[in-house]
Amino acid sequence: SEVSKHRKIAIVGARNVGKSSLTVQYVESHFVESYYPTIENQFTKQLVLGKNNYTLEICDTAGQDEFSLVNTKSLIGVKGIAIVYSCVNRASFEIVELVRDKIVDQLGLETIPTVVVANKIDLRDAQGHSEVSQEEGAALAKELGAGFVECSAKQNVGVDEAVGQLVMRIEGLDAKGDAS
Ligand code: GDP
Repeated sequence: SEVSKHRKIAIVGARNVGKSSLTVQYVESHFVESYYPTIENQFTKQLVLGKNNYTLEICDTAGQDEFSLVNTKSLIGVKGIAIVYSCVNRASFEIVELVRDKIVDQLGLETIPTVVVANKIDLRDAQGHSEVSQEEGAALAKELGAGFVECSAKQNVGVDEAVGQLVMRIEGLDAKGDAS
């Protein structure tokens, strides 16, 4: 279809995990080493999935504390969330579930399409060691009924996949973009 469907998503998670970096990498295809922390940014990007065109409105919650989170007003209309943690920061992993619960609560929903994003995988050591293992991340995502994608905003690994998976979850599409 030629009609572009408007979908709003939010990128959430602890401070410093790379929410802005992932958003900028996704929307503008570059990595900014020191993106100055703003309160909140709105971005728009076109996405084609199978036969469908989407206009994504991306709400990046940069610079916000995980407890104040996103203000309720900016969450209005959000259809899915990417919860980002850093694989080299265990504390950011440990609040993933809390962040999800809080957003679901604020929106007055039972649940919301979610992708858990493990960022900064370029900082794993040569033996593949990191503070949070891939297995732990995948297990948590499974427990939450969420998708799981490992990313590096710095090296542009997994970034398109994270957003693609989220939109597929929102739309109930399979990997080919067909309605299931
Ligand atoms: P936010 O507070 O969650 O929006 O985090 P930022 O996007 O501001 O990133 C925090 C810091 O981590 C910045 O210094 C980024 O350059 C850095 N960073 C973000 N993503 C990555 C990544 O994938 N790999 C590495 N090595 N650093 C990253």
